[in-house]
Order: sequence, then C-alpha cells, then structure tokens
Amino acid sequence: MLNYKAPENLLAGKTILITGVSSGIGRVAAQTYAHYGANVVLLGRCSSTLQALETQIHSEQHGRVCNTLCCRFDLQENDYSAYQALAEQIATRFNALDGLLLNAGILGQLQPLEHLPLSEWQQVLHVNLTANLLLVQALLPLLRQSQAASIIFTSSGVGRKGRANWGSYAISKFATEGMMQVLADEMSDTTIRVNAINPGATRTRMRALARPDEDPLRLKTAAEIMPLYLYLMGDDSSDCHGQSLDAQPAR
Ligand code: NDP
Repeated sequence: MLNYKAPENLLAGKTILITGVSSGIGRVAAQTYAHYGANVVLLGRCSSTLQALETQIHSEQHGRVCNTLCCRFDLQENDYSAYQALAEQIATRFNALDGLLLNAGILGQLQPLEHLPLSEWQQVLHVNLTANLLLVQALLPLLRQSQAASIIFTSSGVGRKGRANWGSYAISKFATEGMMQVLADEMSDTTIRVNAINPGATRTRMRALARPDEDPLRLKTAAEIMPLYLYLMGDDSSDCHGQSLDAQPAR
C-alpha cells in the first residue's frame, strides 16, 4: 500500500477528524484528505494556526466545496466532559464521522527510565495515549453513524521494539499498538475498522528534536508517506482491520 494511487474522489462525502494539524504529518494529512474530497475537522490547540490552515485548505479546492470545522482543543485536557463537548460541537455540523486520524503526539524527554520524572511520564502518556481513549469514547457515537468508519492510531518503530532512552514516548506507542488491537477486536462486529500507522522516519519537527544529528533532507517528507494514510481512510481498505502498517519501507 506504500504505492497506493488514490482516485481523486476517494474521500468524497466523508467527514474526517485529524488531531495535531498544526504541523508535520497531521497538517499534511488534513490537506491531503481535503484534496481527495473529504470534509475535515481540524483539531489543534492554536486558533490562529487552525484558521490559517482552514484558509489554505479552502484556497486549494479550486471551486469544489470542502466543509471544514476548526476545533481548538488541548489534548492535555483530562476532564471527559470537555471531550463530550467537542463531540457535541462536531455533531452540530456533521451527522457522522467517517474517519478519525489520531495523529497528535509529543516526544517528551529522551532519557533513561531510571531518571524519568513522574510529571514527564504522566504528560507523555496522557497526550499520546489517554487522550486518544477519551476521544474514541466521546466520538464513537458519531463514528457509528457512518456506513464504514476508519479509526487510525499513530504508532512508531520504538512502539514495537524497545530502545534505550526513548522512555515514556516508546512505552506510549507500545500501548497505542495495544489499544488499537483491543479496540479492533471490540469493533469486529461493527462497520468500524481500526488500524495503526507507523509513519517511519519523517521530516518533521518531532523527528528533528529526536535526531538533531540527522540530515533532514535524507528523510521522507510527510507528503511522501500519504499513500498509506489515504488507503486506510478510503473504502479500498474495508477488509483491513486490526493491522499496524508501515508508511514507508524500513531504512
Ligand atoms: P510534530 O511535532 O510536527 O506534530 C505533532 C502534532 O501534535 C502537532 O500538531 C502538535 O501541536 C500536536 N500536539 C502535541 N501536543 C498536543 C496537545 N496537547 N494537544 C493538541 N495537539 C497536540 O510531529 P510529527 O508530525 O512527526 O508527529 C505526528 C505523529 O507521528 C506523532 O504521533 C508521532 O509520534 C508520530 N511519529 C512520527 C515520526 C517521525 O519521524 N516524524 C516517526 C514515528 C511516529 P502543537 O504545534 O500545538 O504542539
């Protein structure tokens, strides 16, 4: 699916929520999904960044109507009622959600577990893992209104094989793989499919933070890894469920 060629109307009529749209992979995914016909719900924590992206998406539609909704939301929120209010905000604009890309994430401090501050652990686990549970719980009623919804979690290579000093980030991604599998099993008698994407090393702010020694120009761009993001969001992947897939070949 790394070379998947999406038809131009792949996502026509679908409404997709993307978390973490202010930069990196999430921003490009939002633009890409809109380009292929989706209405997009943009979740981020900075109003001006959301509005700038919304304006850009509209300017890229060349006359086609793309419905957008900006949701300013900080995934550090731990009050479930805020997640319910978010779902209600979306329900006032859209009858159903056909896609949920759980992309937002933080790296946290890279250091040995022995020295990891509890506050650091709690923040990374909350944003990368717990917030996704709360989002799924709040949004499942809207996802159930879709004829064929797709939930995509975002994993990582260090969520499959532990690596020294990647501490809370790596462990949050191991748990993300677990959450994806558990939810997929629970959704097996529904029309909702659940999968995960490991983007692989991608030229973004997070990767630059994690690997400042690396030449970013040698890395794939977010745009180059979009084929898998499109495949898993569109109906061509209707048989794909409970899988964790790589968006690019191993380096
Ligand atoms: P970026 O740092 O560019 O993007 C992360 C996004 O998450 C930003 O939009 C950021 O928003 C958002 N975010 C962080 N914290 C919060 C929060 N509390 N509330 C709302 N949004 C938040 O990184 P990438 O694009 O690289 O990362 C995207 C996903 O891909 C992550 O899950 C990451 O773990 C995963 N990944 C990336 C790899 C890579 O090589 N790039 C490799 C493997 C996995 P803000 O700008 O407001 O901080």
